[in-house]
Amino acid sequence: MDLPSYYDPGALVSVLTTQPIDRLLDYRAPEGGLAQGAFVQVPLGPRQVMGVVWGPGQGNYDASKIRAVTKVLDVAPMRDEMREFLIRAGDYTLTPMNAMLRLATRAPGLSDPPSMQKVYRAGADEPDRMTDARRRVLDVLRDYGGLSFTLKELSEMAGVSTGVVKGLVTQGAVREEQAPRDTPYPRMDTDRHGKPLTDSQAAAAAHLEQGMRAGTYGTTLLRGVTGSGKTEVYLEAVASCLAQGRQALVLLPEIALSEQFLIRVEQRFGAKPVEWHSGVTMTERRRAWKMVGQGQAELVIGARSALFLPFRDLGLIVVDEEHDTSYKQEDGALYSARDMSVLRASIAGARVVLASATPSLESWANADAGKYDRIDLDARFGTAVLPEMRAIDMRNEQMQSGRWISPSLARAVRSRMEKGEQSLLFLNRRGYAPVTLCRACGEQISCDHCDASMVEHRFLKRLICHQCGDSKPVPEACPKCEVEGKLAPIGPGVERLAEEVEAVFPEARVAVLSSDLFSSARALKAAIAEIAEGEVDIIIGTQLVAKGHNFPNLTLVGVIDSDLGLQGSDLRAAERTFQLMRQVAGRAGRADIPGEALLQTHQPEHPVIRAILSGDEEEFWRAEAEARRAAGMPPYGRLAAVILSASDPQAAFAAGQELARRAGPLNAVQAQVFGPAAAPIARIRGRHRVRMLVKADKGVALQGAMAQWVGQLRPDKDLRVAVDIDPQSF
Ligand code: ADP
Ligand code: ZN
Repeated sequence: MDLPSYYDPGALVSVLTTQPIDRLLDYRAPEGGLAQGAFVQVPLGPRQVMGVVWGPGQGNYDASKIRAVTKVLDVAPMRDEMREFLIRAGDYTLTPMNAMLRLATRAPGLSDPPSMQKVYRAGADEPDRMTDARRRVLDVLRDYGGLSFTLKELSEMAGVSTGVVKGLVTQGAVREEQAPRDTPYPRMDTDRHGKPLTDSQAAAAAHLEQGMRAGTYGTTLLRGVTGSGKTEVYLEAVASCLAQGRQALVLLPEIALSEQFLIRVEQRFGAKPVEWHSGVTMTERRRAWKMVGQGQAELVIGARSALFLPFRDLGLIVVDEEHDTSYKQEDGALYSARDMSVLRASIAGARVVLASATPSLESWANADAGKYDRIDLDARFGTAVLPEMRAIDMRNEQMQSGRWISPSLARAVRSRMEKGEQSLLFLNRRGYAPVTLCRACGEQISCDHCDASMVEHRFLKRLICHQCGDSKPVPEACPKCEVEGKLAPIGPGVERLAEEVEAVFPEARVAVLSSDLFSSARALKAAIAEIAEGEVDIIIGTQLVAKGHNFPNLTLVGVIDSDLGLQGSDLRAAERTFQLMRQVAGRAGRADIPGEALLQTHQPEHPVIRAILSGDEEEFWRAEAEARRAAGMPPYGRLAAVILSASDPQAAFAAGQELARRAGPLNAVQAQVFGPAAAPIARIRGRHRVRMLVKADKGVALQGAMAQWVGQLRPDKDLRVAVDIDPQSF
């Protein structure tokens, strides 16, 4: 693309803004001129908005009416590479460019005037009068010891108006300061050495380093059982990237929980890397964004949105736990951070390492087809061995009603406790009970706004909808038949399991790890540290514990309901269950004590349960791949979904029928259309949802046809249309 690199004062430029307008806007370059890609503030009606100089002006308006750029922001202009990435990612996911630009400008305060760049930290004085609101502000400041926040940030975190903070400033209880100047991050020391590697680790590291030296794009799938040293190995690739003077990005699925990982990186490179995720303060995020752009931040550890940071010279992207479903953004721009990493790297001439113990079928197939190369680490490091995995056949266990821990599992837990070792009981269900039922009339309490049952959360004493977050107190009487005292919890959630554990093991020290039980990432980190230090005998956890934590004293994993994920019609159910179970089991026995994983199941003969137990992953993938190939499903065929939602169920359905009738653009590329049908969750937040699925051959360029097809819908106030290319569930 041949764009001028500079525009003289007064020249016409076209600006892409983050506003939902589907075209570029023309402005005049200000005094001093403009660089191509400069971040600017421009007038739009009565407002000032942020944008990027996208190219020469298009001159299709009355030149005398064109206004001047208000201000050029003090950050590095967007590089061509980033621009190309945004365009291609937008084309792939059918996301409008203004939404793509929003992803790329997640730096808070990028366009704030200096007066807003004040920060607030704890002051020396006590306020004259303490109110609840004031107490909350001071608690936030104390909890985050020494950190400073912007006014908006602090008042939001404390749940108070900005006036409360200002009041505390007057009293000297909070200090107001000019935001610190953005400073570069400390250099990573690449002369330090990592741990001495085993032969197979060293071979893997050498392969990655060789790729790094090639200086061209390439993707490697690094598959290795949990504890095999994947992290040690890819940190060598990071070291070689940094030693070349290029920047590296490591993506993690649960960044707020990655304390252990950050410490490890700091030990390896002698300095803290840059963190990028929703838990990082705004001041720090602004600094990170700027410094990454100037090349003064070498290593970023981040959540998926870090992919849109303005790297100056990106040499390596590591996607850790690449199979994790949280890499798919599920609202706004629907993109897969794994796939977008590969795109970004191919544009930047960078390497990608996809690391996982249980790769996604997509990555496995790409390696199988020779698009990615693949390295396997088959043994755990040192004396640690993989846990022994066994099924507990629930059909043979004597179960009391309202109990979920079988006698066999209870015996195993008890014997670990006697040895002073830890057990993890895994149940992927938050709350007390998934369903609340009236025993008088059979009514099941469901959300008023969604097609979902309300889940009882006993710690919070409320019923909560896991779809929309709406909650209400647990009623005394049935909302339908009004009989009192007949509402009963049905089925187990982690809170109910905790009750059972207390009854069965009254002497045990118990911790429940579930995302809704912690008010902050900090509290969760503290709980995790306590477990790591051995202060807990039995851990009860949801999916939250399956990811990456290292508890050296944990030797038993008991899966309460292994069959849970196999229900339902989702074609990915087998893959998901396989990954989750192997992942959870991998938490056991990481140090020198061998671990054991026990899976409670009613169907020990189910092929997926058998594959989990036998651990023959290659065979599992082959069988899965065959089934998908036969059905023409991803990764051997292409899928896209369209979700139509409206407050009126008829309107959503009618729009779907209209699309079904006007399938010409899709027929032209031999794509099939299914639907309209109720979406997997047919109603969320009062909006009725209808789904259309589009299926095409692998080689088909689906996006163009999709855009044309969906473009036929006449927009109306109520109807929303979301296109999801490569949907997660099908
Ligand atoms: P993975 O990422 O595959 O789960 P890790 O890299 O986290 O594996 O390694 C598992 C554990 O073994 C970690 O505590 C790590 O420090 C240790 N480890 C792995 N390889 C080595 C090595 N070569 N020397 C010393 N410790 C190692
Ligand atoms: Zn709801």
